Amino acid sequence: MFLEDITLTFIAPCIADPEKIRLIAEVSTDISGVMPYLNAVMKNATYNRKGPSFTFMKEFRLVNLYPGKITMAKALNTTDAWQVLNWIKDMINDVYEKRDSIVPNYELRSKPTALQIYGWLPRKNCKECGEVTCLSFAVKLLLGEKSLGGCRLLFTPEYAEQRKTMLEIVAALGYETVEGLDSKTGYRTQ
Ligand code: SF4
Repeated sequence: MFLEDITLTFIAPCIADPEKIRLIAEVSTDISGVMPYLNAVMKNATYNRKGPSFTFMKEFRLVNLYPGKITMAKALNTTDAWQVLNWIKDMINDVYEKRDSIVPNYELRSKPTALQIYGWLPRKNCKECGEVTCLSFAVKLLLGEKSLGGCRLLFTPEYAEQRKTMLEIVAALGYETVEGLDSKTGYRTQ
């Protein structure tokens, strides 16, 4: 079996929604090699080859795959998290088994839509970014006309999970830098 074990190493309430949980789980195998194959078969996922990372929604849950770990936000509870982790494990092993019949895709398969981007923004319409609504900020972000750092609210602790996902997506879109932000932590450097 390619991926044998997943170990839950961190679990805490989601900051923005304390009714739900966020978590980090370590994987027993480096899963970066399977990401281009997952990218070929999964719709609506975002593969950041340079990371590498692989981001997708499992219904309302936000999932990020990294070479040695999985992070998840907005899981209902530990049981729900384990169900999704086991589903991820089965999916990875299944795709790995079938890899000889899958053409790996190393590119960004489909650009997220403005509505998806909107869903990961704070959705407060506070206008601090210079846009009237978060949706118009999302549209301009997709067009490369706005920098993610323009949304200051996203860089507050409350939005840590969304920020992580948005940084992966911005990187996958090929927008290299987010002005004034550390590319690894996502926190402001100035
Ligand atoms: S700063 Fe962020 S939360 Fe405020 S309107 Fe712009 S995108 Fe929305």
